[in-house]
Amino acid sequence: MHGLMMDFPLTIPRMVLPRAEGLFAARPVDSQVGERLHRSTWGAVADRARRLGGALAELGIGPGDRVATFAWNSYRHLEAYLAVPSMGAVLHTLNVRLFPDQVAYIVAHAQDRVVLVDRSLLTAWRAVEPRLTIEHPTVIVMEDDPDGSLDGGALAYEPTIGAAEPLAWPELDERTAAAMCYTSGTTGDPKGVVYSHRSTVLHSLAVGLADGLGLSASDRVLVVVPMFHANAWGLPYAAALVGASLILPGRDLSPAALCGLIERERPTFAAGVPTIWLGILEHYRIHRPDLSSLRTTVVGGSAVAPALMAAFEDELGVPILHAWGMTETSPIGSTAHLPAELGRNSDPLVRRSYLCSQGRAVSGVEMELLDGAGQPVPHDGEAMGEICVRGPWIASQYYGDDQPGEKFAGGWLHTGDVATIDLYGYVRITDRTKDLVKSGGEWISSVELEGLLMSHPDVLEAAVIAVPDQRWTERPLACVVPRPHAQDRLRAEDLIEYLRPQVARWWLPDGVVFIDAVPKTSVGKFDKKVLRARFPAMPAGARSSVSPQQRAQG
Ligand code: AMP
Repeated sequence: MHGLMMDFPLTIPRMVLPRAEGLFAARPVDSQVGERLHRSTWGAVADRARRLGGALAELGIGPGDRVATFAWNSYRHLEAYLAVPSMGAVLHTLNVRLFPDQVAYIVAHAQDRVVLVDRSLLTAWRAVEPRLTIEHPTVIVMEDDPDGSLDGGALAYEPTIGAAEPLAWPELDERTAAAMCYTSGTTGDPKGVVYSHRSTVLHSLAVGLADGLGLSASDRVLVVVPMFHANAWGLPYAAALVGASLILPGRDLSPAALCGLIERERPTFAAGVPTIWLGILEHYRIHRPDLSSLRTTVVGGSAVAPALMAAFEDELGVPILHAWGMTETSPIGSTAHLPAELGRNSDPLVRRSYLCSQGRAVSGVEMELLDGAGQPVPHDGEAMGEICVRGPWIASQYYGDDQPGEKFAGGWLHTGDVATIDLYGYVRITDRTKDLVKSGGEWISSVELEGLLMSHPDVLEAAVIAVPDQRWTERPLACVVPRPHAQDRLRAEDLIEYLRPQVARWWLPDGVVFIDAVPKTSVGKFDKKVLRARFPAMPAGARSSVSPQQRAQG
């Protein structure tokens, strides 16, 4: 017997857009565009999205065609977020920080037919074009000055949508592709993840859950995470669904610019990678901007160092919500709210250890730890395994692959993240499989060492990498950025002594090198591959005074 409820499609034009243009039409959508703040509303954005749909249809874009964006976070980018999927085409967000060759590979692989380019990124796009192996996509320039002249047959966004008839959205099957995003791909070619309408709508509902990200109609969201990466953690669609107001910061993500926006525009909710918040914390300590409007900030994409969590809570009074996910998981997979099981009077250290964990799988995501043989590992908070996930917003395979492949074996997404899960279901990532330091048959967590090093008052950033070692296979090398005031006084020995009471002796790094900055990936994560290339062996001067043999006895 079937249930007798309506078979209502879980699509963006039926579930998300009507709320943005109806109930929440007056809610503000404000964007920093160069020097000025552009004020708009969900109603105006939805209205212009229909015109953009009309313009794209006139250019011959039809169901399934890929329309790319090469843009910062702004209202025009948001219009594309709504228009492209709603007309049955596929929104392909391109990472503007990749090298031209990488962008060209991705555009050709996805067979993009149109690309919407921010005026400030036009030169960067022009560097991609000669490398393309497909017919060049039609360029629509999202211009800041409508009178500026455009070269090379590009169309200007405003006159193009101004002249177009608003499009009536077609009926879509909820399994239709809505958007695609290529993984940042630290190894091999980038892989395309294709989100459906159904996955996007369900993910947006989860973002609104109290134990998801808890986004609501009372929120004003500062979306620092780029709209070119994993749909900005699903925030634009979730905000339209729940009626949250948006602040889109444009290209300047410097601490000064972001703090200025927070002071003037009073967001209640923000989201970004740890590097962003680390920069804001440093800025706050000197300039004391008023950040009191923030009720929370979501931090994810890399592990939150306990020191960052503590500083935000104790100094700024802004609690961090730690979230874990991947491009392949839409991206929200787990969130670290405190477990009710702890009760009211728990030890602050235990409390913080939960807040700094990767949290519990959100409703809709099933999570398992599997060992190398594909067998489940006990959830005892000790045994380590690879995080494997499945659910309605988890990728089942990559775009263009005939078969799901190893990564999706057994109907699970094998994430490459190694973790423990405790009795309450809280995940603690110990490392990426490729970043673990494999020493003498045991694993050393680079993430844990980094967290400890970054809690030292003289350390700004720290990345720990494995370097080959004849006897132990690999040994850890700590690459440390001192705080400006500590440049001259911080010594490797101090750091080793600082770590000594906190980790097993054989975990102590064999060496410490001081560097100017930890290299970052295009989405602001520590880029350890660059450090591994820079330090292929333990640098002679970096050796710490305790020998590995001594440590092995510890
Ligand atoms: P991407 O698909 O580029 O967003 O990268 C996803 C990867 O980022 C995950 O597989 C993790 O290794 C890492 N990651 C994301 N969120 C976290 C987090 N909260 N803690 C630790 N690592 C994270």
